Amino acid sequence: MPRRVIVVGANAAGVEAASAARKKDRAAEITLVTMEKNAGYSRCGLPFVIEGIIPSFRDLIVYPPAYFQMLKLNLRTETKVTAINTKDKTIAIACKDDTTETLTYDSLVIATGADPFMPPIKGREKQGIFALRGLEDGERIDAAVKAGAKSAVIMGAGLIGLETGVALIERGLSVTIVEMLPQILPQMLDADMAKTMQEQLEAKGMKILTGKTVEEFLGDDRVTAIIAGGERIEADLFISAFGVRANTKLAADAGIPLGETRAIKTNARMETDVKDVYAVGDCAESANIITHKPMCAQLGTIAVRQGKVAGTNAGGDYSLFTGVLVSAVTRLFDVEAGATGLTEAAAARNRIEVITGAISSKTKADYYPSAKPIKVKLVVEKESQRLIGAQIIGGEEVTQRINALSFAIQKQMTVRELTKADTAYAPPLCETWEPMVLAAEMVLMKLR
Ligand SMILES: Cc1cc2nc3c(=O)[nH]c(=O)nc-3n(C[C@H](O)[C@H](O)[C@H](O)COP(=O)(O)OP(=O)(O)OC[C@H]3O[C@@H](n4cnc5c(N)ncnc54)[C@H](O)[C@@H]3O)c2cc1C
Repeated sequence: MPRRVIVVGANAAGVEAASAARKKDRAAEITLVTMEKNAGYSRCGLPFVIEGIIPSFRDLIVYPPAYFQMLKLNLRTETKVTAINTKDKTIAIACKDDTTETLTYDSLVIATGADPFMPPIKGREKQGIFALRGLEDGERIDAAVKAGAKSAVIMGAGLIGLETGVALIERGLSVTIVEMLPQILPQMLDADMAKTMQEQLEAKGMKILTGKTVEEFLGDDRVTAIIAGGERIEADLFISAFGVRANTKLAADAGIPLGETRAIKTNARMETDVKDVYAVGDCAESANIITHKPMCAQLGTIAVRQGKVAGTNAGGDYSLFTGVLVSAVTRLFDVEAGATGLTEAAAARNRIEVITGAISSKTKADYYPSAKPIKVKLVVEKESQRLIGAQIIGGEEVTQRINALSFAIQKQMTVRELTKADTAYAPPLCETWEPMVLAAEMVLMKLR
């Protein structure tokens, strides 16, 4: 009898898991179930369709139906998994034609993702508060802009809030970002780096109010204004970007244990505490490579890597997930920002004593036309002198530097070793002294 693999959720983590299982077992019966109309599309591209860089939301469908046919993956869209029975190894599904079915699995991968979070703010039941998670959300925001919205309030200054803010400014709207914490990008950057980024965004016309909590949504049936930090702010469009929460109800109802972050607890094989049940992506926990504590990082890059590991294991092979550094990058207008490992603030929360060093340099030789500024900050554990975090803001080439520093952290490189890095140079491409090395020199000087 062929192995039966069922994957709940058919987006970044789920599709990767099903594809990996197929690579390991060509005869397996593999079924993917998703509540959505479309499977395997890029949520990460949504702000760029709203901005108008990508012509259509359809362009974000990375895995069209032909992909699932080619790999013989049985894809069931608009179908909801309503229950998991881990004793019988079955799941119950509610189909789009209102029928129900029970399916049996040998291995189950839970990839139910996350949903936007709305805090208990007065008036939150009113119409007209948008979130950006799925294709339909993007279409609704786009339609509101086409219908004549001239101003927007975005609640939350994380990656999604800011990328959406940039998109709307590029579409001609005036945008106000409201953030409860005293800085933007609080998960990614330290306050000093966030300040540099905020100044650049404000220079492009984004209004940013930090340290202001949204207290109330005003309006009759439809929101027309919010109260934040005591201030009334009116707009045509309101977007909640407060963050997301792991979608764990299905697992929890089935008795599959959650971890301390309230996401689904997993081991290094991405297996839950229940045998043959795996959890991956935005709904699952993994260990942080530096602190070894569980975390739920909720990034597409992590979802696909976890999906590949779980799918390989569900397909009968053996694979381990090595943990997360939460490496992330973004581009806001013409400024790139990236981070990997711990910020100085996160290190302090974990009681790790650190030395930091930050430098400003250029992305090409100083004399070369169009050289752009770049700022690098390194976070180094004092005791071991090992690099444990990095943040970069600059005009270009941020991603590959963040990737290089992520490799360095994974390989436990010390800051002294980083100062000796054998880097390349040519005037149109970079400075003689690589900015990462200059930042390492700065840390080393402080350590001396
Ligand atoms: C606007 C935006 C921009 C982003 N940008 C980036 C970026 O630049 N870089 C990056 O790394 N990450 C980015 N992310 C995050 C990234 O998109 C997510 O981490 C990734 O989508 C997680 O994939 P997933 O498969 O775990 O979950 P999801 O993509 O949430 O998919 C889970 C699926 O499971 C389905 N499901 C849930 N419950 C059931 C059920 N009971 N039955 C059937 N189906 C169910 C859901 O409907 C959903 O389709 C961005 C996210 C957004 C929203």
